[in-house]
Amino acid sequence: MATVDIRNVMKAFGAVKVLHGVSVDIADGEFVVLVGPSGCGKSTLLRMLAGLENITAGEIAIGPRVVNNVPPKDRDIAMVFQNYALYPHMTVFENMAFSMKLAKAPREVMEAEVGRAAKILGLEALLQRYPRQLSGGQRQRVAMGRAIVRNPQVFLFDEPLSNLDAKLRVQMRAEIKELHQRLKVTTVYVTHDQIEAMTMADKIVVMNSGNVEQAGPPLELYDRPTNLFVAGFIGSPA
Ligand code: ADP
Ligand code: MG
Repeated sequence: MATVDIRNVMKAFGAVKVLHGVSVDIADGEFVVLVGPSGCGKSTLLRMLAGLENITAGEIAIGPRVVNNVPPKDRDIAMVFQNYALYPHMTVFENMAFSMKLAKAPREVMEAEVGRAAKILGLEALLQRYPRQLSGGQRQRVAMGRAIVRNPQVFLFDEPLSNLDAKLRVQMRAEIKELHQRLKVTTVYVTHDQIEAMTMADKIVVMNSGNVEQAGPPLELYDRPTNLFVAGFIGSPA
């Protein structure tokens, strides 16, 4: 598995600076939640971890390897987005096997890997269905299945539950946590929802306007916020 070290990372889009020197240490197997208001730079940071945005300054290491110039496909990461965009014309099996198919994996390998992920996620009976025949929660599970089959060192989630209704959101939180406890893959999870952060994180990183305000275990932030922003953000209702 892998540690993730984000060292003084800055990001500018043209003249507009959106991250001002962000540092976060993530331990092997840790579940870290990046939380903060809309526009504070969470997705940008996650996309830099994934290699989908270049790094203006600073350094990101996954395990011992600095990945600033490593393309996304060589980073050993898998990302689950908010709009999980399954391919509508492909079955669940084909959606989950797609990255392996691109890599020209043999059919037996695809079946074994998809079977393994489907078992973990309870999707075994749904492999021949199309996305339109699935509920929102089932689609979200397929999106996670696509990530699991890649056997990544790091999972990246960008607000994966924000399109689901409240009840399903609570259920999927528990499922994602359970998945993490089972697979112990280092996870970086982005949300703007304080409750989600408090209930899911080993460590919360509170961001605001392109800076880290405070990082620590949920109870530490709750009991000992180091500034008013953190106190207000963590303490306020979702
Ligand atoms: P969050 O995910 O926390 O809501 P983002 O990382 O999406 O925030 O955005 C942070 C800031 O960067 C916002 O002000 C956003 O408008 C800006 N931004 C994000 N992507 C781009 C881009 N490709 N070009 C210019 N500005 C961008
Ligand atoms: Mg975002």
